[in-house]
Amino acid sequence: MRVPLMAGNWKMYKTVDQAVEFVRGLKAALAGAGGAEVAVCPPFTALAAVARELAGSQIALGAQNMYWAEEGAFTGEISPLMLKEIGCRYIILGHSERRQYFGETDQTVNKKVKAALKHGLTPIVCVGEQLAEREAGRTEAVIKTQIDGSLAGLTADELAGLVVAYEPVWAIGTGRTASTRDAQQVNGYIRALLAGLAGHGAAGRVRIQYGGSVKPDNAAGLMAEPDIDGALVGGASLQVDSFAAIVRAAG
Ligand code: PEP
Repeated sequence: MRVPLMAGNWKMYKTVDQAVEFVRGLKAALAGAGGAEVAVCPPFTALAAVARELAGSQIALGAQNMYWAEEGAFTGEISPLMLKEIGCRYIILGHSERRQYFGETDQTVNKKVKAALKHGLTPIVCVGEQLAEREAGRTEAVIKTQIDGSLAGLTADELAGLVVAYEPVWAIGTGRTASTRDAQQVNGYIRALLAGLAGHGAAGRVRIQYGGSVKPDNAAGLMAEPDIDGALVGGASLQVDSFAAIVRAAG
């Protein structure tokens, strides 16, 4: 039985004060909600303050990126040890915005995945096709390349502990959501790929999220699909009401 993971990716939004106020509100809004695991992924500057505010709550903390080295002369980067120290449990890796604007590749994602696992952080590995790739019928080929490259060299146990987020690039921040059928089809394909890499047992334990314009009114339909084990939510995770409604849609 996979517990759905509902994670908010705040991207480059919210000051420290706004972030703390948000999680105060979220804790209140989710009191009594069960069924899904919840995580928020604020910008680096707000992580420590949000960690303090979340102490003792069921809401987990995640970061949006990291470098793979433990320390060193890497100006502007953040290491897995630093994230672990302040209480992060999750780390979003390979988000399409990082691939598009910051040169992230499957190879760098792979290094980061291995470093995260070494230090006890759970990677949320993002994969997804662009619109032109979908229209050219290349969705599965693109996803396979991303999965094979990002997850190369992992043991079955390591793989089983991962979260994968299927995020079609054309659905991110556009208001255009994949149909439940299309999302389920790709998530099922990802699970088959994972089974090819690590066996059905390990693949059956991996949580595979959907991300891309998830909103309160489409979340329940997506979450009802057998291979959709939660959501990675961008825009709609920035308001307490909408994120709490999405979390409740997961049961
Ligand atoms: C995201 O940033 O991962 C995302 C899915 O964004 P949005 O929900 O805004 O489409």
